Amino acid sequence: MFYQSRWRLAILYTSMMFCIFAVMIFMGYRGMLWAVSSEQARELLGVVKDIADADALLMQKDDMPEDLGYRERMFFYAFDLHGDLQYYSKAPQWLEDDVLALIQDGQVPFYDVATFELSDDKVMIITASYITFNDRIIGVVYLGKDISALYRGATKYAYFLLMLALVALILAGILGYYLSGCVIRPMQNAYEKQRQFTADASHELRTPLSVIMSSADLLYNDPSIESPFLKQVIADVKDEVKKMSKLVGDLLVIARNDNNAEKLNLQDFDLSGSLHQVVRNMQPVAEKKHIEIQDNVPEGIVCHGDEQKIKQLILILVDNAVKYTPENGCIKVSAQILKNKKIRFSVADNGIGLNEEDKAKIFERFYRVDKARSRAMGGSGLGLAIAKDIIDGHKGFIYVESQLGKGTTFAVELP
Ligand code: ATP
Ligand code: MG
Repeated sequence: MFYQSRWRLAILYTSMMFCIFAVMIFMGYRGMLWAVSSEQARELLGVVKDIADADALLMQKDDMPEDLGYRERMFFYAFDLHGDLQYYSKAPQWLEDDVLALIQDGQVPFYDVATFELSDDKVMIITASYITFNDRIIGVVYLGKDISALYRGATKYAYFLLMLALVALILAGILGYYLSGCVIRPMQNAYEKQRQFTADASHELRTPLSVIMSSADLLYNDPSIESPFLKQVIADVKDEVKKMSKLVGDLLVIARNDNNAEKLNLQDFDLSGSLHQVVRNMQPVAEKKHIEIQDNVPEGIVCHGDEQKIKQLILILVDNAVKYTPENGCIKVSAQILKNKKIRFSVADNGIGLNEEDKAKIFERFYRVDKARSRAMGGSGLGLAIAKDIIDGHKGFIYVESQLGKGTTFAVELP
């Protein structure tokens, strides 16, 4: 349990770190792109005005298209009002088609900068401005800048951060595992101590209880005690001691199961025989309540498991069936080998039944549906908890089907 919690905590911590890293790197990357392009845009807006003014002067002279040479990553195209190209500083060849297409589509904003992330990692920013002369519009200039390299740089940096984050994540995982171990260890020690205490206490209580029991027996059978009142008192004491011995025994079983102190003694054994035996043993108790136990178990079912534990499990189920079925009821015990070679046996009664909410809880320790009734019957609510431990130990399953007032069926499947 603690081992699992430790792993769960470490994984939870690492995944949280992963989410934080992922969000931070993504935001950092987008932030960097924003910073790069906004600075470039500012520069572009500053330059476009100068170019428009220069073009205005040039356009007064002659109107032959003229290449004004390549500028550091910047390019511009100046058109007159007829849409004829007048002056230009060409975009790099691999970008030019895209630039002209954008201009043609009218996608370039005036006096504002748009960023276009094109295919093949091409990124550019571009703006447009009117060319005016004496407050008259005489043309349009488009000014752009290729910022692909800056973007590629930013992307590379993001990958670098990603690698760093990966290393940090591995460290976070190791750290998370170590820290959760630090948190869990004291709890585990405390829990272990408490378990040991329960085991020791129940063990130590057994001897005095058996001494009290045999003393009470002795007194009960002593002919010198004749008073019927005293006899009754002694009988009551015996009854209580019996209940207490059972409780202490159950507690010891649970504590030992928790400590994994009791190894399962696995071997092939005759499950049919065990079922018959438990039914036989419970017959007298059932008869007292005029309950009929039908033994529908076929012969020859061989099971691989711990015979004593499985017998204890069957006893717990049949004991409950008898306890929680009113007089003149009927209990059916059956078993079969399933197609997938699993063994399934069930104990069905037509007793008081369980509601949905209780069905989920009856396997908890000390859980009893009707405390008063259960206690009067000598129950402490540990039977099914022990049964569950036994089934878990055998890697099996237990199913409960029940209807309030109609009856309950417990079915156990063992591999
Ligand atoms: P113990 O078995 O320790 O003597 P218990 O019988 O009260 O005490 P469990 O066997 O763990 O404890 O059962 C838990 C509760 O589940 C019972 O108190 C009872 O209310 C309910 N229960 C168990 N078996 C049946 C059944 N066959 N029909 C109806 N209720 C049941
Ligand atoms: Mg019980």
